[in-house]
Amino acid sequence: MELIQASARCNNHCVFCAQEGLGEEKFAKDENDLLQKTLAAVRKNPRIAFVGGEPTLHPGLIKAVSAAKEGGALHILIQTNARRLAYPAFAESLKNAGANALDISLQGSTPAMHDYHTRISGSWAQTVLGVKRAKKIWLTVGISTVITRSNFRHLSEIARLAHHLGAEGFHLNLAAAYGEAAKSWARVVPSPEMVRPYLEEAVRVSKNLGLSLMVLGRAFSDEARDLFAGIGLYEIGTNSSPRRKSGSIYSLDEMGTVPISRPKPGLGERRGPPKTGEELKKLFPEIFTGAELPGGKP
Ligand code: SF4
Repeated sequence: MELIQASARCNNHCVFCAQEGLGEEKFAKDENDLLQKTLAAVRKNPRIAFVGGEPTLHPGLIKAVSAAKEGGALHILIQTNARRLAYPAFAESLKNAGANALDISLQGSTPAMHDYHTRISGSWAQTVLGVKRAKKIWLTVGISTVITRSNFRHLSEIARLAHHLGAEGFHLNLAAAYGEAAKSWARVVPSPEMVRPYLEEAVRVSKNLGLSLMVLGRAFSDEARDLFAGIGLYEIGTNSSPRRKSGSIYSLDEMGTVPISRPKPGLGERRGPPKTGEELKKLFPEIFTGAELPGGKP
């Protein structure tokens, strides 16, 4: 899938947002720039995704989607927090222009859990309404959740909510110490050891519900690959400026090499050194061997 970086702006302000500090120059400057970037992307690959920031805030999005469709795009995905989709006229214009799928960021099974992450009161209600509007007009929906210290015990509940809302897929990835999360690493990034049982349970529940899954950067099916544009689109550099790598997402393997500026432990908290890729392989062997996570058959 070819990614188009539409807008650096966002109407959420997530505690883990990896876009912080990326710089506006990576994104489409104006409507014409977005149009040109879109047409160039379609020439490379008929499967495209508009990513951000929040692509729905770009004033040229509808026109660019329409041009992509006319230019031969076969699959047009929008990575979004879906808050603008709560407005029926906008949702319909996106669909009519040719978008067929949404990768929607949902960080909690309750308003309090989600709004804590986005730091925007009322964002859960708007996102959930956006999902409902999207399903009403037959857009395909995948739900993306970043696993943090504040939601890792509720991943199965988020999977159930995603299914209840009509989503076809569920994407789980660990928060990493980039952007906003780097500022408050100790309260945002969870311990992989603690996440593991909840992640396994969420995978089991999602399979039972028939959701297409992408977990820690690994798609469980082709359908899942088409539903998600990725979270944290970085290549891990050797300095403190991670570089963007188009079309890929960070993996557990890379997490051990993330250049982390760690805050001092607070309130007597003690943490060990960052995990290396090899150490993480021992913790999550199934993911690295290609076998499915344990947890029962659908
Ligand atoms: S993570 Fe996504 S929804 Fe949240 S602030 Fe960043 S771009 Fe916006």
